[in-house]
Amino acid sequence: MITNHTFLDIAKILSSYIREYGNIFMPAQFERPSWDDYFMLQAELAKLRSNCMTRKVGAVIVRDHRQIATGYNGTPPGIKNCFEGGCKRCQDRMDGKIKSGASLDRCLCNHAEANAIMHCAILGIEAGSKNAILYSTFIPCLECSKMAITIGIKEIMCLDTYPETDYDLIKESGITIKLLDKDKIQYWTKTLLNL
Ligand SMILES: [Zn+2]
Ligand SMILES: [Zn+2]
Repeated sequence: MITNHTFLDIAKILSSYIREYGNIFMPAQFERPSWDDYFMLQAELAKLRSNCMTRKVGAVIVRDHRQIATGYNGTPPGIKNCFEGGCKRCQDRMDGKIKSGASLDRCLCNHAEANAIMHCAILGIEAGSKNAILYSTFIPCLECSKMAITIGIKEIMCLDTYPETDYDLIKESGITIKLLDKDKIQYWTKTLLNL
């Protein structure tokens, strides 16, 4: 009878059970992504909607473990998609006439991070973006870094580096940058398909 046991006895029984059969509250085979991996997966998902022919990038802005905005790179709404010839600069890039990161001032494609930031502007969630985390499948370029600083992003999580990044500016702003493990994201993508 359980009433004959002291709390200490119950704790002993429980810990021996856990030693024998594993943690009954969280089975060893029960796994789920960390918060960072979870939001990076959402950025990966946004990436699928990219219409830019040079590179696909996705981004999400998160505060208090909640996604408040998302974006992917491509031409602005109502403008012909990049892959349909909407951006001459990207076409030149694909034709090998210019290098990666060059002539961005001629590019009609909004970057994923910029679109996520504009998402905040469109929906009027300025207050929510302060001290938020920006997840991007690439480290933001100079322009996107400037915008991220302006809306008060405190941390940037990325999967890959980008040739146009101004690390000095980001450092000066106090934003911390972290590269997440790409293998982990690939692992979760595969897990998702097999669920
Ligand atoms: Zn493009
Ligand atoms: Zn950018």
